[in-house]
Amino acid sequence: MTSERRTFAIISHPDAGKTTLTEKLLLRGGAIHLAGEVKARGAARRARSDWMSIEQQRGISVTSSVMTFERNGITFNLLDTPGHEDFSEDTYRTLTAVDSAIMVLDAAAGIEAQTLKLFEVCRLRSVPIITFINKIDREGREPFELLDEIAEKLALDTAPMSWPVGMGGLFEGVYDFEENELYLPEGDSKEFQGKTVKVDGPEDEKLGEYLSADGVARVAEEGLLAREGYAPFDFEAYRNGDLTPVYFGSALKEFGVTAIIDAIAKYAPAPRPQPTDEGEIAPDRDEVTGFIFKVQANMDPNHRDRIAFMRQVSGTFKRGMKLTPSGLGKPIAVHSPILFFAQDREIADNAYPGDIIGIPNHGTLRVGDTLSEKNEVRFTGLPNFAPEILRRVQLKDPTKTKQLRKALDDLSEEGVIQVFYPELGANHIVGVVGQLQLEVLISRLAAEYKVEAALEPAPFATARWVKGEDKALDEFERFNRANLAKDRDGDMVFLAKSPWDVNYQAEKNPDLKFSATKER
Ligand code: GDP
Repeated sequence: MTSERRTFAIISHPDAGKTTLTEKLLLRGGAIHLAGEVKARGAARRARSDWMSIEQQRGISVTSSVMTFERNGITFNLLDTPGHEDFSEDTYRTLTAVDSAIMVLDAAAGIEAQTLKLFEVCRLRSVPIITFINKIDREGREPFELLDEIAEKLALDTAPMSWPVGMGGLFEGVYDFEENELYLPEGDSKEFQGKTVKVDGPEDEKLGEYLSADGVARVAEEGLLAREGYAPFDFEAYRNGDLTPVYFGSALKEFGVTAIIDAIAKYAPAPRPQPTDEGEIAPDRDEVTGFIFKVQANMDPNHRDRIAFMRQVSGTFKRGMKLTPSGLGKPIAVHSPILFFAQDREIADNAYPGDIIGIPNHGTLRVGDTLSEKNEVRFTGLPNFAPEILRRVQLKDPTKTKQLRKALDDLSEEGVIQVFYPELGANHIVGVVGQLQLEVLISRLAAEYKVEAALEPAPFATARWVKGEDKALDEFERFNRANLAKDRDGDMVFLAKSPWDVNYQAEKNPDLKFSATKER
């Protein structure tokens, strides 16, 4: 049974309403399974909450998860991206596993810093975006102003698909341009409870029966301006990432929630082909293929089990199937996959392109690995990012060197940190792209590996992977040993004191390539 699939993520700045919208999406679609519930019981649950306490203190979500719901015969896989302000690799990688995204904006705040960063990742990968302008039940900025800001800051055409009839205290409902339908609030809470009215258009006199004179004028005048002043919805332009359809709504009061689900069903791409070194792999290929975009420590820190999240690209996966990870070379049997869409037993044994499969393992699977039946293809495009923060790890108990090395290797495998082993000196260097990752590192070292460590400033500002012919590399190594390290794979990394340092070396060594990203 291969029902249609939509695999997507929500991108937003903290507080814009991602969590609230997610809850309402799951409520309106029949939520099948929430990944957060995956087998965390009793002691395991308590132990897990140990290192998760940072998450609770800060009210953030450090780990991504997979949520699946169904509506009108379509299966929706929603991949959660961590919502904190720190730029994180995890978020980036999660976006490599989706086919489209919803961008949630706060109507009072518009485009914010984190929205912009995440949007840029989507653009890099031509991920099409549907915009949801949230919180119209509160005072917000003028809808025209918000549309113009999106167009300006993101260089995107905007096509308004609906319109708020007033905001905040003046809020009277939402007008849907596509269906020519008015969505009305009910009760003291002014929630949407399903009351809609079909009309002949924004100028229909019938609107006067449901709206104030102000409201009627607003729909007629603003509605006309909105449709004349902005691009009409263009399917191709949306799919190419040149245009975003914009829906106004309130996640809290449930306005626009089903419109968003329907928009994803109607317009968002089904599972897309994925790039490899030798062309794209289409979903209709017979062979099962996929790639690991995330590795998460299992719920029980005393067992070093990990769950690798695979985005399936092609074929029909069956429980027990043998797949070969590109990093390992020999096949593994996937006996106990976690199928996030497991609604009933029958379906739970199969997975299809666009689905996410959780594969328990002991560290054999790494982020960026391709899994396939024939071991002939390699997916590309899951980069490591050059760290922006580098720290020296100082062990408090020197007898724990081995444990530390194991822990750093494990955590770098998971993508929590990157680890560099300097050619000179004994201290390991860790690199991260956001401050929060350092806190997660220290707390997990203590909780899971019983290693007390401190982080000290390292005299480096950034790192670059160095590539080139052996001769040029040897030469470079001879003169720069103090600034060189090996990463987890043994590849050469130049630790730079400043971005200027990178430029200087790049100019001085034209035969070498200094890259800010590395693809495995
Ligand atoms: P996240 O950080 O993006 O996940 O945001 P949340 O979903 O946690 O929402 C942040 C705050 O905004 C919470 O207090 C929500 O209750 C509130 N909120 C979310 N959506 C709406 C909305 O549509 N209207 C109003 N008035 N508040 C909202």
